Amino acid sequence: MSLQHAPKNIHVSFEFFPPKTEKAEDKLWESVRRLEPVHPEFVSVTYGAGGSTRDRTHRTVKRMVEETNLVPAAHLTCVSASKAEVMGVVDDYLDAGVQHIVALRGDPPEGMGAKFEAHPEGFSGSIELIEAIRNYKPALGKRFEISVAAYPEAHPDSHGLKRDLEILKAKQDAGADRAITQFFFEPDHYLSFLDAARDAGIHIPIVPGIMLQPNFNGLKRISALCGATLPNWLHELYEGLDDDAEQRELITANVAADLTMKLADKGVKDFHFYTLNKAGLSLSTCRLLGIKPTAKAA
Ligand code: FAD
Repeated sequence: MSLQHAPKNIHVSFEFFPPKTEKAEDKLWESVRRLEPVHPEFVSVTYGAGGSTRDRTHRTVKRMVEETNLVPAAHLTCVSASKAEVMGVVDDYLDAGVQHIVALRGDPPEGMGAKFEAHPEGFSGSIELIEAIRNYKPALGKRFEISVAAYPEAHPDSHGLKRDLEILKAKQDAGADRAITQFFFEPDHYLSFLDAARDAGIHIPIVPGIMLQPNFNGLKRISALCGATLPNWLHELYEGLDDDAEQRELITANVAADLTMKLADKGVKDFHFYTLNKAGLSLSTCRLLGIKPTAKAA
């Protein structure tokens, strides 16, 4: 597929992180406003390690409900909190009008790579959390949409593909509506994981997570921790560009659009972009894919 033949009927969603400072908050809201006219299926807001952004995540999704036409999805983890505390956050999301949760085990406070220990009164992991959200106050008649994480190249804690697929199937059986993947750069990593998942009876959508990180040194650090590989061709593309942010951004948008088009060519319709709160890169990637901002139809 070439740029002259952008894929038709693909849908995008965007991930943001909650800002730490007033300046970062202004930048996030500028990005949200610029991306709103692309009409994403939903926008998600991450939950900092160990619940460190609990209030900021809540404030961000609440403001999205109140001030935009976007459908926010709030991330939630089980780390360092009792079941009652975690479900208190679910309650707060519901009060704020948020009905989509990205339910995760989360990483230990020491960071990715450290061993996860459940809180003594907490959830043992993502599966119990998903079950609790799915069964939450059914009398209210509201159904949460639940997204979960999946790892085409295996999570660092993985005990092998077979066990990973059992875990993903258990997430589906517990009530997950969709999985969103960790980022990856080789289409085959995703496509072979998708095939294996379908063979294992996993039928929920598995939405590829597409990374828009133009800071290649930063990307190397995250990849080393989360188990995503950076192919040699990617190293070569960014080689010598440490001091050239402009070229790195152009490359990042093109790499993301190319990966998306290759997957769209194989029938994938939904894509989740890790925006890093930067609208420009997401907008140019979308434009390369034939998705332009438009006014909302009346
Ligand atoms: P799980 O899927 O429950 O477990 C992760 C992996 O551990 C499994 O795939 C499997 O390989 C292994 N494993 C788990 N249980 C078992 C078992 N019983 N037996 C054998 N192996 C097992 N982190 C945050 O802190 N905040 C966020 O907002 C956030 N958002 C994310 C969004 C996406 C789309 C993704 C992909 C990740 C996100 N993360 C976030 C990172 C995530 O919290 C970490 O990767 C965490 O280590 C695992 O969480 P999980 O829900 O994927 O766990």
